[in-house]
Amino acid sequence: MHNYLLEEQRDYSGACMKELPDILWLEEIRKEDIAAVGGKGASLGEMAVIGLPVPRAFVVTSHAFRRFLVETGLEKTIFKNFENLDVENNAALEKAAEKAKEEVLRAPMPQSMIQHIMEAYQKMDAGEMIVAVRSSATAEDLPDASFAGQQETYLNIKGNPNLLKAVQMCWASLYGARAIYYRAKQGFDDNSVNIAVVVQQLINSEKAGVMFTTHPVTGEPLSIIEGSWGLGESVVSGSVSPDKYIFDQRSEKVVDRLIANKKIEIIAEGTHGTKVVPVSPDRQDAQVLSDEEVARLAMFGKIAENHYGIPQDIEWAIVRSTFYILQSRPITTIKPKGTPSASGRTESGSTIILKGQGASPGIVSGKVVIVRDAKDTSAVREGDIMVTKMTNPDMVPAMKKVAAIVTDEGGMTCHAAIVSRELGTPAIVGTKNGTLTLKPGQMVTVDGEKGFVYEGAVAAQQPQAQVPATAAPSPVITATSVKVNVSIPEAAARAAATGADGVGLLRIEHLILGLNKTPGWFIANHKEEEFVQELYNGIKIVLDAFYGKSVWVRTLDAPTDEFRNMAGGENEPIEHNPMLGWRGIRRDLQSKDQFRLQVEAFKRLWEQGYNNLGVMFPMVSHPDQFIQAKSMMREWGVDVDHVTLGIMIEIPGSAILIEEFIEAGINFASFGTNDLVQYTLAIDRNNENVAWMYDPKHPAVLRLIHDAIEVCREYDVECSICGQAGSEPPMVQWLVEHGISSVSANIDAVSKIRETVARTERKIILENARSRNA
Ligand code: PEP
Ligand code: MG
Repeated sequence: MHNYLLEEQRDYSGACMKELPDILWLEEIRKEDIAAVGGKGASLGEMAVIGLPVPRAFVVTSHAFRRFLVETGLEKTIFKNFENLDVENNAALEKAAEKAKEEVLRAPMPQSMIQHIMEAYQKMDAGEMIVAVRSSATAEDLPDASFAGQQETYLNIKGNPNLLKAVQMCWASLYGARAIYYRAKQGFDDNSVNIAVVVQQLINSEKAGVMFTTHPVTGEPLSIIEGSWGLGESVVSGSVSPDKYIFDQRSEKVVDRLIANKKIEIIAEGTHGTKVVPVSPDRQDAQVLSDEEVARLAMFGKIAENHYGIPQDIEWAIVRSTFYILQSRPITTIKPKGTPSASGRTESGSTIILKGQGASPGIVSGKVVIVRDAKDTSAVREGDIMVTKMTNPDMVPAMKKVAAIVTDEGGMTCHAAIVSRELGTPAIVGTKNGTLTLKPGQMVTVDGEKGFVYEGAVAAQQPQAQVPATAAPSPVITATSVKVNVSIPEAAARAAATGADGVGLLRIEHLILGLNKTPGWFIANHKEEEFVQELYNGIKIVLDAFYGKSVWVRTLDAPTDEFRNMAGGENEPIEHNPMLGWRGIRRDLQSKDQFRLQVEAFKRLWEQGYNNLGVMFPMVSHPDQFIQAKSMMREWGVDVDHVTLGIMIEIPGSAILIEEFIEAGINFASFGTNDLVQYTLAIDRNNENVAWMYDPKHPAVLRLIHDAIEVCREYDVECSICGQAGSEPPMVQWLVEHGISSVSANIDAVSKIRETVARTERKIILENARSRNA
């Protein structure tokens, strides 16, 4: 069988076509047979042939698809939909795509083809087997990598009618809007692109996960295996923290294992889908893999690596001690040979293919994965470059895995920028058209400092390089406290390792948004205790990491649009301008349950003796809001006169009324310049079109800040900054010169900000001394 299709397959009409099979079994396929079975089919065939335990599968060949087009007459009509199509015109593109897909779905599959598919399926457990039906698209001689993610996969399919429908749906997905767009941009004629469909035994795994056959950054001979219960989707999508095992190929021993608390698993549901269920308590902290199983997986990994001659990124599954290898592909994060090393400089002559705002520093190379919404994040792999319009909280699990993040929209204070900095992941925001310019599977290099994307792997890897967890605190002592901002508890250790003088902002909405459920969902579903516990546990991690130093925890502040994609998001109001809408204190004072549950978490922590906890209210515009919040807390049992309570100054109104706020009893105030700038200057902080006007040093903003600092000093109330401007040295210099009591910077900026503060303070002392002498 090997390779014989290659020559003839390009002739889609005439006698030879009829001799080509509609069906090929994996054992009949080699990696060269891309044109007949697509990249995915060819790779599975090759894996089966070298002895990896690949689940049983057959492929409905690209030839079958062509025969379908010819015999139904679609070949003559369908491509008319794309003639003169302006793919940049979204509405026209969607319309053409819908029409073409409908035509494919409506056309009756030739009887003989139905017969061939049913016969093949019959051989799989007498037509009873539950299968995954996956598209495997290919242009002539091109593996499907260039089209990855643009065609559909249908899981958990059983029975002839469902199978035939799923095959046809895969075919139709060849004409999805995104697929048509990419083909047009890459110069492929739609008529030249084919699709094969892989029908493969669905492995209802008891445990599953991923493996790197070699350390992805250092290249050491270590197999790194992650695994959890149920289907591997939970590990691949990042929805669960998996166990991690490190197997040293030299000593043939497991040298490290990290057993995680695995709260959920994904299992098959009915005959069509999957569902997320809680892991039974006895398995949550149990070790997923025995040492023997780790060793066996590592061995399969080595077989694949030796065969392909390059380290592999593998998906595996285990059912009742039967091992399966589901996918194997090259690791993309190991520094390719011949690229420059330690300097981190790009090669001279490397081409910049995209520009935006450098939002989180670091240089890294990897493969592009385009993410349209959270559903697409299942395609995201460790070390990928995630490219998306704008990140959402429901994408955070995937953001934790990728090597870099590139967005079309946003400025330095958008969701993507904030979370990336915290994760230590290089990021570029506001590229305007990254999702259109970059192609899935394309190898690129991201410079998160300069805001450039280069073609190919042209720079040294610097993953998570900004602040090593073991970084020694800087010895510089400053009179102005230098604190750090934290949003996710995982970042607490890195934040503490900076030696910061406390946490000037802990954004707790990230603790909740990461669970993919709105606060309203917890309340409506009577899961209040779960909500309180999540907050309590997350905040406690940060309080512990900063024992003896103050931690200002901000109450919930997420605009309604950030909740939209989550469970409960359907009940969020639709707002024309969520930035000006129902968020922060104004929402909490109306959603009393939501506020009460947060207060309950704080109260428990105070009762535990965490006196370093201070609570900060966001988006206050009038002292009455503070007074009301305080009295509600009192009503719920908090001794408000003996805990630390403060406000963010994000609205000009609160800057102007700072004296009244102090009279109302605040213990501290912190400038949220991200919002203060947007509300003072009427500049949407997430809009890349006006990003150039977004200036925290605008005289109007500076005047508001200056006047508020003066009042705070007069009353001896701590006055700080926790907006992004607190990570920018020139702004910090100005703030210190004008008497701010503390600043709070991003993790990656703490050390440079401390230096700025120290230098500025010395300058002030020196100047005072000189003027006294004079
Ligand atoms: C701010 O507005 O400056 C701030 C720190 O809050 P956020 O970025 O979460 O709106
Ligand atoms: Mg804000």
